[in-house]
Amino acid sequence: MNIKNKKAFKCKECGRLTYPRRVRCLQCKSTEFEEVPFTDEGEILTFSQLLQLPWGIDDRFLTFGIIRFDNGIKAMGRITTPDVSVGDRVKASWENFRVMAGEDIFGWVFSPVK
Ligand SMILES: [Zn+2]
Repeated sequence: MNIKNKKAFKCKECGRLTYPRRVRCLQCKSTEFEEVPFTDEGEILTFSQLLQLPWGIDDRFLTFGIIRFDNGIKAMGRITTPDVSVGDRVKASWENFRVMAGEDIFGWVFSPVK
């Protein structure tokens, strides 16, 4: 799914980037934000993996990580490969993870940049 309509928030007072939106800036307590777009790519800051999943989950592995987009915004999401390292380049998309209680659950998905 196109990420062009996904927005992060930049504090109008101090410039701190935040995602998702908060009521107040964590740095200066301002409540004034401007929307900023995500970039298409970023790098892995940290990650965690599950290689033995609970019964009922068909996937072979789950890798989650925090990514710093190229414009400095940080977000957590699923990484599509178990073979990752801190600093790897990834491309971002916003996708349907699964259906839970009849509702589609969306989140960030990061794929390695080749
Ligand atoms: Zn601020």
